[in-house]
Amino acid sequence: MSSSFYPARRILMGPGPSDVSPRVLGAMARPTIGHLDPQFVDLMDQIKALLQYAFRTDNALTLPVSAPGSAGMEACFVNLVRPGDTVIVCQNGVFGGRMKENVERCGATAVMVEDPWGQTVSVEKVEQALAENGDASVLAFVHAETSTGAFSDAAALCRLATSHNVLSIVDTVTSLGGIELDVDAWGADAVYSGTQKCLSCVPGLSPVTFSERAVARIRERDSKVQSWFLDMQLVMGYWGENSKRAYHHTAPVNTLYALHEALLILKEEGLENAWRRHRLHHTALVAGLEAMGLGLVVAPEWRLPQLNSVSVPAGVDEALVRSRLLQDYGLEIGAGLGALAGKVWRVGLMGHAANRQNVVLCLGALEQTLSSMQAPIERDRALAAALAVYDD
Ligand SMILES: *Cc1c(COP(=O)(O)O)cnc(C)c1O
Repeated sequence: MSSSFYPARRILMGPGPSDVSPRVLGAMARPTIGHLDPQFVDLMDQIKALLQYAFRTDNALTLPVSAPGSAGMEACFVNLVRPGDTVIVCQNGVFGGRMKENVERCGATAVMVEDPWGQTVSVEKVEQALAENGDASVLAFVHAETSTGAFSDAAALCRLATSHNVLSIVDTVTSLGGIELDVDAWGADAVYSGTQKCLSCVPGLSPVTFSERAVARIRERDSKVQSWFLDMQLVMGYWGENSKRAYHHTAPVNTLYALHEALLILKEEGLENAWRRHRLHHTALVAGLEAMGLGLVVAPEWRLPQLNSVSVPAGVDEALVRSRLLQDYGLEIGAGLGALAGKVWRVGLMGHAANRQNVVLCLGALEQTLSSMQAPIERDRALAAALAVYDD
């Protein structure tokens, strides 16, 4: 006999999903209405305005794609990249590799600009690649590399794209709501994000925004976008401004209630306050980790507050530590990916999860777990170091 599913209570401090606010879960449980109901159309307009606030943009084509962050990524590539195009792709972690995969599946050529995992994208190398590839039509990069915990200078990279007359595609899945993101001031052209990282919403939607330049590129295409579902010309018929809303696909109604609530929470707190909160709890967490003798992978100037890659001490079974944290404390942290697999833990402080309780719990739980395994760490220092940050 099957029975209803009741998940255990977890504290989500991994690379996403992050803890979802009870307000968001509550919103999701409200009655489903039709996706063309006038009330729902009004909600869509509100969501669009709140996304424009979060992205800091006036772009009319701003909406949540009805699928997770990876679909937002694909939506940007399939709409802007035409067969035969040349695209400059920056890679300093997992997600740049997925961008390359997207470019090639569009029938285009990816020119890779690679930097070591854990480092920021080199603006100089990108400038050189743009100079050497005059036929490039798009520059693609990840603002916040969740696989390593490093961010890149999105303002400088978007500026380079504009000055070389290429469109920028920017992955902001982990940055939206967590660190400064300023779509219009940067002149970013196609920007995608996710709901389950610093927005602390449930997974399953991908906010995107396209500049006028990007919309013009989409309109002037002479080849069809290879994906029917993600073709923005068709999606615009449903999410578009003045046109009568036409059926394209059934919107995930209740998930959109959740996104609306999550964005309201962000707006109530204020974007800058949310960025400051992520920074504060990151500073406390790092003070504690370092006092324990644990090191971070990324140099201080490029560290993401919301994703902390911590080096696993020599001789420690990193997977065993994670499973003990989950069993004994209900605490989830992430494993390393790709080049960092087995070498790091990824500790997230995303959205609702970036708070004092979580920092204190995580430091205490890590210290007890590592001590019980005779790992070479300093005891009885981490909490004091973290709390001192809050006392400042
Ligand atoms: C999580 C993530 C994605 C993919 O998002 P999904 O919602 O898992 O599809 C893409 N890029 C970055 C930087 C991410 O962190």
